[in-house]
Amino acid sequence: MNTTQLCQRLLGTDQLFIHQVEVEAGRIRLKVSSKHSTFGCPACGWVSDKMHSQYVRHPVDLAWADYQVVLELHVKRFFCHNAGCSKRTFAERFPDLVASYARRTARVLERQRQIALPLCARAAEKLFHLFHFGMSDTSINRLLRDLPEPEFSKLRVVGVDDWAKRKGQRYGTILVDLEQRQIVDLLEDQTCQTLSEWLAEHEGIEVVSRDRSKTYAKAISEGAPDAVQVADRWHLLKNLSDTVCKLFQSESTLIKARMKRRNRQI
Ligand SMILES: [Zn+2]
Repeated sequence: MNTTQLCQRLLGTDQLFIHQVEVEAGRIRLKVSSKHSTFGCPACGWVSDKMHSQYVRHPVDLAWADYQVVLELHVKRFFCHNAGCSKRTFAERFPDLVASYARRTARVLERQRQIALPLCARAAEKLFHLFHFGMSDTSINRLLRDLPEPEFSKLRVVGVDDWAKRKGQRYGTILVDLEQRQIVDLLEDQTCQTLSEWLAEHEGIEVVSRDRSKTYAKAISEGAPDAVQVADRWHLLKNLSDTVCKLFQSESTLIKARMKRRNRQI
């Protein structure tokens, strides 16, 4: 395997010419262009071989060992000669490599999402720097907000509880599919109206698990009147634990006296 073949293997595509490989301090720069001499107009599909111009993009790719990898991607712009088309020129696209206007390759974005999803943005930011594709915590939050909404099967058993936007200050309502163990929605507030409207929009819910909040009880009665309301396990155990503690505290004098008497008998 020669150097070009190795680079192609590391880039994960054989659709690019690798013209040059430059190694700088901590960085590898790859000068690349597509192997295609023709491209279909994205508006009308006309296949053109008349090049108008070229421009350069610099997307960051996955690091090689401890070197950041930056592509010097030469992009061809073609004429569209279809008289009925709204475009006069168009640029070739690289959907498997890098999205239009993106500053990172598709596989970097995918890796960033995989890392950022289970972490907070601050922790992900530190890890990104280690992997040589740095991104601010603000951009990481934007990256996660732009993720497509997950699709859920029909909801049957739902859990409702508070969630803290800012602990001790601002709270909303979290809804969880208890069969799939997935969060399905976050509501802006804890009001009866918001929750009842949400439940009314999701027909077929049979069971709603909740804490002892009267607001949630009323919202469920209004929004999903046929659903069975049950106390959630966490609150049941907490209430049981609190009650047992109170019982032992209230009877502590009697319990100590009984323990002393028993110890004397032993
Ligand atoms: Zn066209």
